[in-house]
This record gives sequence, C-alpha cells and structure tokens, in this order.
Amino acid sequence: MSNKIFFDKKRWFQETPFPGVRRCKRDLFYVQKEILRKKTSFQEVFIFSTPGFGKILALDGIIQFSQLDEAIYHETMAHTALLSHPLPKKTLIIGGGDGGVLRETVRHRNLKVIHMVEIDKEIPYLCQKYLGFVAKGAFKDKRVNLFYEDGARFIKENPACYDVIMVDSTDPVGPGKVLFEFPFYKDVYHALRDDGLAIFQAGPFLDLKSIINDSVNSLRRLFRYVCLLRLPMPSYSCGCEYCFILSAKKYDPLKINLKTLNRRYKLRLKDPASLKYYNPSIHLASLVIPSIWQK
Ligand code: SAM
Repeated sequence: MSNKIFFDKKRWFQETPFPGVRRCKRDLFYVQKEILRKKTSFQEVFIFSTPGFGKILALDGIIQFSQLDEAIYHETMAHTALLSHPLPKKTLIIGGGDGGVLRETVRHRNLKVIHMVEIDKEIPYLCQKYLGFVAKGAFKDKRVNLFYEDGARFIKENPACYDVIMVDSTDPVGPGKVLFEFPFYKDVYHALRDDGLAIFQAGPFLDLKSIINDSVNSLRRLFRYVCLLRLPMPSYSCGCEYCFILSAKKYDPLKINLKTLNRRYKLRLKDPASLKYYNPSIHLASLVIPSIWQK
C-alpha cells in the first residue's frame, strides 16, 4: 500500500474512543469500500470492507466484528457456554443480532428451543443482507424464536426457564449499558434453571479492568462459580486480548476435564470439523488467566 493512501485520512476508519481505552495506530482500518451507513432508532450502523480484516460491522463507531476474527468470538461464546452444561435443552441469546452466536448455537443437536432477544430489528435484517457469512442461514432454523425488545426487560418475565443464557451485547454505552448492571445480572440468575449457566461478553483485558471487575464482583454476589476466559480479538481495542465471564449455579466450569468435553463435542455438535477456532483443548486453555486477574 502506498504512502499516498496512508495519508488520505478520509479513507481510514478510527473507532470511537471508549472512556479508558488506549488509542493507537493499530485501531485505524483502511476503508476499501463503504457498504452501508445508516441510522436506526437505536444506533448508527456502518458496514465497510478493508484489506486484511475483510468486512467489518461498526455500531455507533465501535467495531462489533470483522470477517477475519468473528469466528473466534462467536465460537468461543457459544461452545464454551453450551458444552460446559451437562445437557442444555433451552437457551437464550441476548443481543447478537448479527447472527454469529446463533450460527454456532444451531450446531448443538441437543437444543430444542433457541430464543434470541435483540433490541434493534434492523441489525438481523442488515447483517443478513450485507454480511451473510455471519449467520449463514441460522435464523431459519426451526428451533429459533426471535424477539425484538430490550433484553433487560425480556429476561424479567422468564423465571427458571433457561439452561444457558449468552449475552452478546454491545459495550456498556448506549442500549447495551443496562446489560452490564446488577439488576440485569440478577434477572439472568433468576431466568436460569437450578443447574444453569450464563456467559457475558466483558471487554478488553488490559483496558477495561474496572468495568470487568465490577461485572465479576456483581456476578459473584449471585452465582456460586464465576470465572473469566480469554480470547484473542485482533480487530478490537488495538488487538488487546478479550474477555468473557462464565457464571454457573451448580457446576464449576473450571472442573470440567478434556475427556468430558471431547465426548460432548463429538456427540452434540453438527460438523465440528468446520470450526475455525474452538476445540476442547482451546476451551480449557481459554480458562487459564494471568495472575493479576486471579485476585
Ligand atoms: N460481538 C459484539 C461486540 O461486543 O463487539 C456484539 C455483537 S452484536 C452486533 C450486539 C447486539 O446487541 C447489537 O445488535 C445490539 O443491537 C444488541 N443490543 C444492545 N443492547 C441491547 C439490549 N438492551 N437488549 C437486546 N439487544 C441489545
């Protein structure tokens, strides 16, 4: 790429600064082609293509995924949560309108009911239209029921209902803010069955320590087991390692062993050979966290 292109500032997308997150040259993305710019009732959608990262979805200026690394995020969220449970039948995805977590969830043969609650009706529509490689037709699975409303409101009305809840929200600003607060965590706890578990997207490890700590502390007031897991996300926050939180009522996610995971993986998943990132060994490796986070 020539220097001329590099200095053409109009061709570079820079993420909107999130309070406390470092800014650096690595969070600039060269915009090869603008695919869509649109304001919905909830957020501003920007879809564009880049060299290297492929197509990218940004909401309110914050990157949601890139074609290069979306599989890392979506596979880790769905399979780590669903395979940590002995045999989930009913699950709920909160957010996740792009359909990536849903694509991975429908691989699980044992699931009978898959609910998804997304606040913004336009996201599933636009993502299926312009970014079809994410959902890959998962919205058409017969087990899927999609609700358009605020996930925080929805969850209040479903006590003791789900085996696994996956929270694939935007960051703690805008419509996603409520999904990082104690009343929401409490409603998630009550919406789970006695042996249920939930996974939450949390933030970049190095940058949002106080937000991640607040979430962990709130969840520890409710759940018997709360642990962090880490994943590489090159398109987020200057390439920082990313963090999810796994919270369980009855079974300790850290006690699961490779033999059990391998068995569940082979029995329950459709076409595991097509996964790009997740496997039982990386599941266990993602639960190994740096010393500073063990406190
Ligand atoms: N992987 C992404 C990330 O963290 O960068 C998140 C992906 S997904 C696009 C996030 C979705 O959460 C968006 O479609 C957004 O509309 C939805 N969302 C935000 N707040 C919500 C709420 N309160 N209830 C339900 N869905 C919500």
